Amino acid sequence: MSHRQPDPLGMTFDELAGALGCRAHERAALSRRYRAFMRGAADVEWPPAGPVRRRQADGELTKFAQATAAGFETESVIIPMSRFGRSWQALCVSSQVGCALGCTFCETAQLGLRQNLSAGEIVGQVVAAQRDFGAAVRKVVFMGMGEPLDNFDAVAQAIRVFCDQRGLQLSKERITLSTVGRIHGIRRLAGLGWRRLNLAVSLNAPSDEIRSRIMPVNRAEPMDELRGALLDYARHSDQYIMIEYVLIPGVNDAPAHARQLADYCRPLRCCVNVIPYNPRLDSPWPAPDERSVTAFVEALRAAGQYATRRVTKGRDLMAACGQLGDRRFARRPPPGGLAPVGLVRVGPVG
Ligand code: SF4
Repeated sequence: MSHRQPDPLGMTFDELAGALGCRAHERAALSRRYRAFMRGAADVEWPPAGPVRRRQADGELTKFAQATAAGFETESVIIPMSRFGRSWQALCVSSQVGCALGCTFCETAQLGLRQNLSAGEIVGQVVAAQRDFGAAVRKVVFMGMGEPLDNFDAVAQAIRVFCDQRGLQLSKERITLSTVGRIHGIRRLAGLGWRRLNLAVSLNAPSDEIRSRIMPVNRAEPMDELRGALLDYARHSDQYIMIEYVLIPGVNDAPAHARQLADYCRPLRCCVNVIPYNPRLDSPWPAPDERSVTAFVEALRAAGQYATRRVTKGRDLMAACGQLGDRRFARRPPPGGLAPVGLVRVGPVG
């Protein structure tokens, strides 16, 4: 438990010690009580993770699904990682079943929103990865099904459990929350003071005109407002923001788009991660060829923007970025009916 973590007490350990006027020898005792309080506050019932219902593996990635209490299925992907001779696993978790935001390039969007997952169902994905696959999960990324900031409270609580001493004991810098850029949610996240949490923003376009075409959310929350929220957020974070850019042939992959994107990103402390498009089922677009991906990354760098490219994994398994959500297993409507594909909820979330 970091002394810097300011919630749910509302202040860091150092602020608390200062407010109480603690002298050096009193700080150790206070620290113990502070840690106990934080552990209690972060406590949730450790979920009995449901059995893994389906699994697919391609020798590299493992994708698995678990039943939820409402009768749907989560999907998660175990991703092997290695660096400097050490290997471990990252887990891509879902925060919802389906998604209401209707991005045109995304398989999950085809389901509409079926269910918000509970904190237990989110944590349960990690439990299953460890229990059923022996994964050593050292990194969690909220890049599976759903928009995490539209299920704010459950996602925040799951992150507390991931970081708790009795939980996964991850540091926040090993957790990445990926959002389309829900502005109210970004502001709420900034308010939690989790300075080391990684934030990734799915931008995917250099202009409002293109973004509104492929991401309906942009019509309600345009790029200028999003950048304003990110600039505010950066004051509450120690991390670079990751700008994700799914490169779609004929849509957003021209050299001029790279220059426009670099201009947009200039005020931000960010890295652009170029993700070669992974076609959804019935996709109107193909995957980009290697040459156009390299050319786009180089054009960004030439314009002065720090840029990387994501290595494509799991495309054949429908386990790559933007491909989760099996339409065959998402038929049962929740009480109250389904949110239609493309619904954009405006205003406060969570
Ligand atoms: S890209 Fe993300 S926000 Fe957009 S529809 Fe897919 S899951 Fe939802």
